[in-house]
Amino acid sequence: KQMQIEQAQIRQRMARIGRKILVLSGKGGVGKSTVAVNLAISLSLAGKRTGLLDIDIHGPSVPKILNLEGKMVGGMPDAILPVELNANLKVMSIGFLLSSATDAVIWRGPRKYHMIKQFLKDVEWGELDYLIIDSPPGTGDEPLAIIQLLETADGAVVVTTPQEVALSDVRRGITFCRSLDLPVLGVLENMSGFVCPTCGQRTDIFKSGGGESMAASMDVPFLGRIPIDPQIVEACDSGQPYVDKYRQSQAAQAFSEAVIRLVG
Ligand code: ADP
Repeated sequence: KQMQIEQAQIRQRMARIGRKILVLSGKGGVGKSTVAVNLAISLSLAGKRTGLLDIDIHGPSVPKILNLEGKMVGGMPDAILPVELNANLKVMSIGFLLSSATDAVIWRGPRKYHMIKQFLKDVEWGELDYLIIDSPPGTGDEPLAIIQLLETADGAVVVTTPQEVALSDVRRGITFCRSLDLPVLGVLENMSGFVCPTCGQRTDIFKSGGGESMAASMDVPFLGRIPIDPQIVEACDSGQPYVDKYRQSQAAQAFSEAVIRLVG
């Protein structure tokens, strides 16, 4: 009974949101959070009312990437208010509710499930055009819980790096989405080549192109390649919105092309 009530509450909140897009990866460290953040920023700059929800319990990195660490979230009875980054972008991270960055590492399954459910149920987004969800990496219990609790996610963007190990992980990710009837909106190849700023020569540090051929062989859309750019690391570490600050860079342009392929 209680579960039905909670599920109805989630449904009610989600009904006010246009499209709900999960950002997934087969494993950690491929740039999933970076992609989620920059996707949300791009949409907000394009005038879309956007929410960014970070439920990566083990490593909520959105507060750091957006320089929101230590932010307190507002509360109302039965609701948590997200942080407003700009007029079009609201942000909620599980990191805002953890008292120390290491808190959730020791949590067991049921507590994590409860936290995820509370988030979906209680965060008051208001009306949104898009909700971008930075999901935990992999194909385990947590992304599964999110997909099942959301019920109506529009689909997933799967982030990968070009080399073979990440690609076999991403194949597993795609199979995971399919088994849950979650459409794969596209594969994004991150850390794809490095262009030397001094001599202009391109070096494919983690190889390149694997994501595209894999996407073709699995019959899912390919959203593009984001090159390695040290300014991404710098922007992430100092909490600046990369696609906004470095609009002219190759990587930022690749991001905007990917966003266009994703949402039109
Ligand atoms: P994940 O969420 O998959 O664990 P993150 O988004 O936290 O990965 O990224 C891991 C690290 O890689 C961060 O330090 C981030 O700044 C960096 N990074 C991500 N994408 C790029 C890129 N295209 N070029 C350079 N550094 C990147």
